Amino acid sequence: MSAALGLYRLQQIDSQIDSARARLESIQQALANDAELQEALSRAESAARVQNEAEKKQRTIEAETQGQRVKIEQAESSLYGGAVHNPKELQDLQRDVASLKKHLSTLEDRLLEAMLASESAASSLNEARAAQTQIEAQRGDQMRGLASEQSELLRQIDRYTSERKAALAPIPDESLTIYESLRRERRGLAVATFSDGSCNACGATLTPAQQQSARHSSQPIHCPTCGRVLFAN
Ligand SMILES: [Zn+2]
Repeated sequence: MSAALGLYRLQQIDSQIDSARARLESIQQALANDAELQEALSRAESAARVQNEAEKKQRTIEAETQGQRVKIEQAESSLYGGAVHNPKELQDLQRDVASLKKHLSTLEDRLLEAMLASESAASSLNEARAAQTQIEAQRGDQMRGLASEQSELLRQIDRYTSERKAALAPIPDESLTIYESLRRERRGLAVATFSDGSCNACGATLTPAQQQSARHSSQPIHCPTCGRVLFAN
């Protein structure tokens, strides 16, 4: 086996491990990121607070309105009950009833407003809860999908790691040292294939003599431009 072939196989395994690890990292980030759900939860909480306040306000005005009706009933029963005969007192009672009724009408307007506000708050709350439920369901599906992809990737990495051990066996130590340092310097890619006379990693043109020695040399031949080990695919 040529020196380049061994390194090329190692490179293929390492690239698969790199891409599995990168995907794992982005899965971990996605699993940790629940910003959308947090936002939906906080929207639902604040809609619930608004709805609660609106209902409280409605109940208060309802009680005031009810109290006002009782006062009017009492004033009217004094007015029409026949117990009061004094015209001045009767006139005062009439004025009281009129003024109590006027305030009742203001209270009834406020009650109507409060009921509308309450209804609209309840419908906002329903919407916020529906959105929250939907996001929770989506997130549940997404999490399950990501978790199963995550375990599959971990299994793949295990498999690649065993393959890597086997691929290391035929590679001399000095070639491995060069390979590792190229991996560090060249964004993970230490071995480049070439075709149509150029390096597939950097695009540099290779002379026929360079291509010839890359094909047949027992020593790794490097791309004159990017320095990667050349492999004739
Ligand atoms: Zn190159």
